[in-house]
Amino acid sequence: MDKVYEMPEIPKRNSNDKFDINSIIENIRKSNIQRFEKIASKEIDRRKEISDRLRKIHGYDEKLTDREVIEIHEIRNEIIEKERKKQLRSDIKNQLIEDGLIFNKRKSGETKRESVPQEVADRIWNRDGGRCVKCGSNEKLEFDHIIPFSKGGSNTYRNLQLLCEKCNREKSDKIG
Ligand SMILES: [Zn+2]
Repeated sequence: MDKVYEMPEIPKRNSNDKFDINSIIENIRKSNIQRFEKIASKEIDRRKEISDRLRKIHGYDEKLTDREVIEIHEIRNEIIEKERKKQLRSDIKNQLIEDGLIFNKRKSGETKRESVPQEVADRIWNRDGGRCVKCGSNEKLEFDHIIPFSKGGSNTYRNLQLLCEKCNREKSDKIG
């Protein structure tokens, strides 16, 4: 850690000298310049060290200055972090929708239902034993959205169940 401030050397004077304010000011000025030069040179060294490391890892163009390499790297990290948050946000949101804690408000017109992927359909069929989960019937079975599609429920394993036509209609009537 640099000293925040170093006292400039004050010239000694003989008792018969005039008090030399100009020489004191000059000394303060010199000492300040030295101090800032030291800080600047440390900063340049630090930048060089970091950019050398980044060049080795990422192979940045040699024409780029140390400063540019660091800047590019910082922006890269920013973008990666932003995308990571976006992905995480979307995963958490989907989980909350599946858990029924929030609803996915679809824009009007965005009502197209995607079909249940075959692989998901097979797993649900096996899980529910090929029967209506309400009454146990194995006739006229349908895939029912536990959280309705209109309220943001999606075609996922967790959100679908087998219901017979009759039980499915009863459920729809209740929801309205
Ligand atoms: Zn049923």
